[in-house]
Amino acid sequence: MHSWPEIYLPKLADRFDFPGLSLFNTETQKIEELEKKTLYRMYVCGITPYDATHLGHAATYLTFDLINRYLRATGARVDFVENITDIDDPLLERAARDGITWQELAQSQIDLFRGDMTDLRIIPPKNYIGVVEAMDLVVDAVEKLRQAGTTYLVDSDLYFTVRSDSEFGERSHLSQDEMLKIFAERGGDPTRIGKRDPLDALVWLSQREGEPGWPSPFGAGRPGWHIECCAIALHYLTPDAGDTYAIDIQGGGSDLIFPHHEMSATQSRAINGQRFARTYVHTGMIGLDGEKMSKSLGNLVFVSKLIQSGVSPVSIRWALMERAYGADLMWNDSLLAQAERDIQRLQLNLARMEVAPTDSVITAVIESLSHNLDTAGALNHIRAWMDATEAGATGGEAGELSRALDTLLGLAP
Ligand code: ZN
Repeated sequence: MHSWPEIYLPKLADRFDFPGLSLFNTETQKIEELEKKTLYRMYVCGITPYDATHLGHAATYLTFDLINRYLRATGARVDFVENITDIDDPLLERAARDGITWQELAQSQIDLFRGDMTDLRIIPPKNYIGVVEAMDLVVDAVEKLRQAGTTYLVDSDLYFTVRSDSEFGERSHLSQDEMLKIFAERGGDPTRIGKRDPLDALVWLSQREGEPGWPSPFGAGRPGWHIECCAIALHYLTPDAGDTYAIDIQGGGSDLIFPHHEMSATQSRAINGQRFARTYVHTGMIGLDGEKMSKSLGNLVFVSKLIQSGVSPVSIRWALMERAYGADLMWNDSLLAQAERDIQRLQLNLARMEVAPTDSVITAVIESLSHNLDTAGALNHIRAWMDATEAGATGGEAGELSRALDTLLGLAP
């Protein structure tokens, strides 16, 4: 699947130091500094292409874009892989409702998503992989689980034994009751008769009447959600066999902590014996005017609609950066209006001949980002610089600040 256009990141001058990047690791429940490396392998779970791209998506991909920008600004390489769950129940249901094929629906939403990511200046993944195009890999991964003796059949569907991994549950920190409840809410089937453990995960669904299927050694069918990401990540991020962990960063929204990321990690360990990700990073949920933003409430705010109504994509970035990435955010019109005013003011200040000193604000923005991506702190430093510039302070280089803010925060006008 082709990605979207690459983004040029101006290099910052060598005199700027980059402290190690610390991030909140869901597994350890601590803010931890990433090990200094020359190559980071980052996997971010992509969309199921039937409702692209709402603000919750934008907030998630913005967060990992900021991590990507920071690590690249330090001179490291970031191998970034993202998937598209382009075959799944919700896609089939929506396509049937709308009277189009699931392929047409997926294609239209993937195109929309690419356009939105381009507008939002999100660095594209090196490998943007659809499950359908990766079906051979996924079948291989399921076969490895089967050979490891971790699967069993319920009727003609194949399930993974979650308790085959002694570390099952360690990334999500939930009680058995909480796991059961959330599993049922997020696509799991804890009450299906014949399962050995209610939390066991479907890895291969045999082909149903009127639904698509792909050939496999366990019969025609399609994969469960979790094994897809595990298979794509393990193939495209080339785990280092000498490392305890297969990849460096697993990312996604906090609604993916369980069951999705727990299951992918557990299945990955069953395949290669390594722990999956060194750091699990999760982003908060976006609400609207005091309510949860959700498909069922019908109150999703779409990036493309905002842009069509005249909102600049950079204002959307700014508004989303006003919160800590891990916190939930209640979106409202005044937040966006304030962001638009801030962006206009920034552009006016960066266009001045004389501006307040810029080295100090660049250093302060880098410092803020290094502390668990404190974007709100970074924006406050930029506001203080605008105050000083408007008060007549001089001695800075507007062009250098503009380039640095673009590299670090994607704030090119
Ligand atoms: Zn995933």
